[in-house]
Amino acid sequence: MAKKRDYYTVLGVDRNADQDEIKKAYRKLAMKYHPDRNPGDKAAEEKFKEADEAYEVLHDEEKRKRYDRYGHEGLAGSDGRGAPNFTSMEDIFSQVNDMFGGGRGSIFQNIFGDGFGQGRQAGASLKCRIDVTFEESASGVTKTIELRRNEICSSCRGSGAAAGAKPRTCATCGGRGQVYRNEGFFSVAQTCPACHGKGVRIEKPCSVCGGKGREPKLVRIKVNIPAGIEDGTRLRIPDEGEPSDADGPRGDLYCYIFVAEHDFFARQGDDVVCQIPITFSQAALGTELEVPTLKSKARVKIPAGTQSGQVFRLRGLGFHRLRDKAEGDQIVQVRVETPAKLNQRQEELFRELAAMDDTYVSPQRKGLLDRLNGLFSD
Ligand SMILES: [Zn+2]
Ligand SMILES: [Zn+2]
Repeated sequence: MAKKRDYYTVLGVDRNADQDEIKKAYRKLAMKYHPDRNPGDKAAEEKFKEADEAYEVLHDEEKRKRYDRYGHEGLAGSDGRGAPNFTSMEDIFSQVNDMFGGGRGSIFQNIFGDGFGQGRQAGASLKCRIDVTFEESASGVTKTIELRRNEICSSCRGSGAAAGAKPRTCATCGGRGQVYRNEGFFSVAQTCPACHGKGVRIEKPCSVCGGKGREPKLVRIKVNIPAGIEDGTRLRIPDEGEPSDADGPRGDLYCYIFVAEHDFFARQGDDVVCQIPITFSQAALGTELEVPTLKSKARVKIPAGTQSGQVFRLRGLGFHRLRDKAEGDQIVQVRVETPAKLNQRQEELFRELAAMDDTYVSPQRKGLLDRLNGLFSD
């Protein structure tokens, strides 16, 4: 296997890139190399996986910290694949924190194995991508996704053995499905490499699944996407991963949410921002505008004398905040448009205004004129 590339290099970001930059870089790569866009292209698939792995580590503050300190080795074991390599007490504590946040198939089971009851290796986790519109990210939505998942073979019911063939107890693990290895003062349980945790070896494999005990199936899963979800969020759907090879719980499904951009709205934290053009006379005389909001429409009072770029805040019309259920605001920025073409009557009126400007000038302009006068006077 080729040596792993640096995660920052993979995403093409700086080592001190913030979460936003990481998210953007990942999104760009994921779009470019997504298997749907590059059917049959192995190289693209590899790139896609590589970017995905880099993102999974760098967008998680804890994992990123460990990666920054120890490189790829610092992450071994946290996905249940490699053995943990503890180097100091501090590391143990950080791993211990990890295992409570890490859910199933985490290092928790690797360290304590069967001694803690439910120590069986969980099934593989799966990943998928879900695209939502800007409006859906605001309102929340339920999406039905389709994915191919390895399920227990219906012919051999997962045993992998052909009908009538007797499975033989695995000699390597004595049927336990796990082997133990000493690692410092822990005894580390590992899935038996000979029988892959099954505890038995198959003499005559099932013809449907070739002895794997699994067959790929197309499944439909409903995913509830909560209102206010942000682009790049990872949703964990418990128990929708693949079944365990060792009588453990199923793996989880991780859905990465991609929010499409909007022509009119943009998101800033929990606020939704938009720009509205107004005419010169609306700005000068004041007006009332009807602006689109995430849910419907709202009226905004624009007072006389409004300047271009001025912002108006509509309380509570932004995004739903997931952590405390508060609502963000809508921020309306007005842009005063200078008329590019005038009809005759309009031009006459502007000329009249200009003539009046000679007798009445705004304080700003007066100051400028005074300074200019000062420059040219003797
Ligand atoms: Zn089978
Ligand atoms: Zn075994």
